[in-house]
Amino acid sequence: MRSHPSTARGRPPAFSYRSSLAPRSSSIGEQPSGGEELFCDDIPVRRLAARFGTPLYLYSASAIEARLVAFERAFLRVPHTICYSVKANSNLSILRLLRTFGCGFDVVSAGELKRVLQIDRRANRRIVFSGVGKSLMEIDLALKSGIFLFNVESESELSRLARRAGELKRKASIAFRVNPDVPAETHPYISTGRDQHKFGIPLEQASELYRRAARHRFLNVVGVSVHIGSQITSPEPFRRAVDRIAQLVRRLRQDGHSIQYVDAGGGLGVCYRGGDQDFVEYAARYAAALIGPLNGLNLHLLLEPGRAIVAPAGALITSVEYVKANKGKRFLVVDAAMNDLLRPSLYGAFHEIVPVRNDRKLGRAKFDVVGPVCETSDFLARDRPLPETVEGDLLAVLDTGAYGMALASNYNTRRRAAEILVKRKTAKLIRRRESFADLIKAELVETSIGRRQAGKKRVEKSKTGGN
Ligand SMILES: *Cc1c(COP(=O)(O)O)cnc(C)c1O
Repeated sequence: MRSHPSTARGRPPAFSYRSSLAPRSSSIGEQPSGGEELFCDDIPVRRLAARFGTPLYLYSASAIEARLVAFERAFLRVPHTICYSVKANSNLSILRLLRTFGCGFDVVSAGELKRVLQIDRRANRRIVFSGVGKSLMEIDLALKSGIFLFNVESESELSRLARRAGELKRKASIAFRVNPDVPAETHPYISTGRDQHKFGIPLEQASELYRRAARHRFLNVVGVSVHIGSQITSPEPFRRAVDRIAQLVRRLRQDGHSIQYVDAGGGLGVCYRGGDQDFVEYAARYAAALIGPLNGLNLHLLLEPGRAIVAPAGALITSVEYVKANKGKRFLVVDAAMNDLLRPSLYGAFHEIVPVRNDRKLGRAKFDVVGPVCETSDFLARDRPLPETVEGDLLAVLDTGAYGMALASNYNTRRRAAEILVKRKTAKLIRRRESFADLIKAELVETSIGRRQAGKKRVEKSKTGGN
């Protein structure tokens, strides 16, 4: 990073400022002011926005790789497999990239399973299937695909899985997802490891369920799983959860079960405020919290990081449509909205927003950055100090590589954004912007329902005419 405003300090090199003489796009006649502009790897973000339009998701392949390598290194001293959590960002090219680095995958639906098989048929032996509501169709697909592990979350699921495995004559390896009743100190919507949550089986029922599972000829009981939530930034909850899992593993082994795997789930948080921390050190502390309690148990560790790998590698680029003031309050109405990035509306999440073209001489003011969607909850930031901004300026919403596009919708019949994968000087389109035709292609215009009296005749006719 050559130069950066204080807001982007310490960030991985994915998004950094370099000095620039380019004049601000919308202010013709303005003198070049020796400002700086945001780059994604070695490409000016401005150029990508001009070429692909906005709103636009940009991902840095180098940043994803750097994160993955650091994460991997933190666990080097124990046997482990990283099963990237597909739901964080499920773009096929991102999955493909992670696969080339040797990742396995954690999936929570048939759709995610198909995505992984789409990029590599032979990745099946590296797939872990989690989720509280696996349907019959999903279980069948996973059995037939020969996935590596089912994380079973209830007694009913165990029965369903055992029955289908028997009927299809396919052996299934299973772990139970155990609920360790550990508070995770994160947003209540993404905390999953307490008694009141729908996830997993209570620790007290584990012995009985493992005994039951072991009786099924087509089930192979191989592990214990835990996932206590997401965006957890302290190692302590992880340590406490894994500590309980370690005790359970000892008990289960005494009961004669051959437990070889502990799936420690995902959940490692990222630092959304004030740039990224030293990830190598942070990942090392996380790894120590997991590895410590498992010491001496001779287990293979499965890890399901999502956010920690991809969040800082992504930015949502948006352009300012209008600058508006209501009494004292100032708004930047941008072309990205809650349908593009739901996290601020859903969790009140904070994302750093930086100008693509930065002039450090400009004064700062507080703005609400809002989208065009007809909801008051449609905001990307509130009361955010930003440089004075004019219509046509570009902004980058940082750390949006995880749960950004993955949670995007077509609300307000808005087309989902394009996605670009950047590596150094190369930018590739990995998802084109949706067209209006994409949005309506599954819909049928039904004309026979809701017709008034006048149309009665035609309705009658269509009955006999056969449509
Ligand atoms: C969501 C999820 C993950 C990934 O969580 P992150 O916070 O993105 O690391 C891992 N495992 C399971 C079972 C999940 O539901």
